[in-house]
Amino acid sequence: RISGAGSRCFHGSARGEQGREGGRGVSLALKEVIRIGEQMLADAGVADAAIDAKELYCYMEGLDRTGLMMAWQRILQDNQCEAYFKLVEERASRVPLQHITGTQEFMGLPFAVNGDVLIPRQDTETMVEDALELLKSGSLRGQEYAGGKAFRGSVEVLDLCCGSGAIGISIAKLDKDAKVTCADVSTKALAVAKKNAAANGCKGVKFVESDLFAASDFHGRFGKGKYQLIISNPPYIRHDVIDTLEPEVRAHEPMLALDGGADGLEFYRRIIAEAPDHLKKNGVLMMEIGYDQKDAVKELLRESGRFEKIVGLTDLTGKDRIVAATVI
Ligand code: GLN
Repeated sequence: RISGAGSRCFHGSARGEQGREGGRGVSLALKEVIRIGEQMLADAGVADAAIDAKELYCYMEGLDRTGLMMAWQRILQDNQCEAYFKLVEERASRVPLQHITGTQEFMGLPFAVNGDVLIPRQDTETMVEDALELLKSGSLRGQEYAGGKAFRGSVEVLDLCCGSGAIGISIAKLDKDAKVTCADVSTKALAVAKKNAAANGCKGVKFVESDLFAASDFHGRFGKGKYQLIISNPPYIRHDVIDTLEPEVRAHEPMLALDGGADGLEFYRRIIAEAPDHLKKNGVLMMEIGYDQKDAVKELLRESGRFEKIVGLTDLTGKDRIVAATVI
């Protein structure tokens, strides 16, 4: 294990054969440093050790992937090795990469993240792509879906449980006709989302602090029947599964964004009960789900008697990931 501050390139590294020279650090080529970093991460059980070892160096030096390739033969000085291995150690302690770099790309856009928001997942991009198609053409995966005039012209979209704002802000950015509201129960999450809207130049996005639809913004004369699309990635992990999640998730991501209650379906029940009042005629409710929740969520939608055209959609890996329905 390489120690923190004050360590030199080889201190305590697994590569005893390379040793040290009389206690002085030895300069190393970047590719070698990254190889050691990768080994340290792999030993710590980090899933994408090779990728993360490179990402940490890119982050440290402000390089992109091309820049990294150009720098591959670069010789690193002791202080650079130290700074790099400090980052590697932090990641090896299972702090998420994105909490070290402070950012995650989603739909090709940069999103600031911290411990107050769920780190946007690639799985969720699928749902955003479906939403963009729906807003543009009223269809879902090439099939006519929404019908009527619900999706003509400028439309009101609500990202419920917005967290970092990844879903709502990317919709606002990629569909200029969408008027997006982002809502979350967490003041701290909304602070991150507001920062992300500004950083991505989405001035028109509105923010509401609300426990689902509880806030007054969603009631009164203008609060009902307002949205053509309500989209949500609510907390959906079954409570007893939380302990089995990777340390990055369990110890660093907000439980508020993950814990879906005893059966993982708590938020779907509440959203399905409340969303119909806030959807326009032919409006659509679209929600991310866990890979094993499709049937249960479709059943909740059916039972409510308020929805039709209840469909499940898969993500890029073929897992059930989205359920959509139109309000009756
Ligand atoms: N997809 C996330 C995970 O697997 C969970 C997101 C959520 O609960 N909404 O960690």
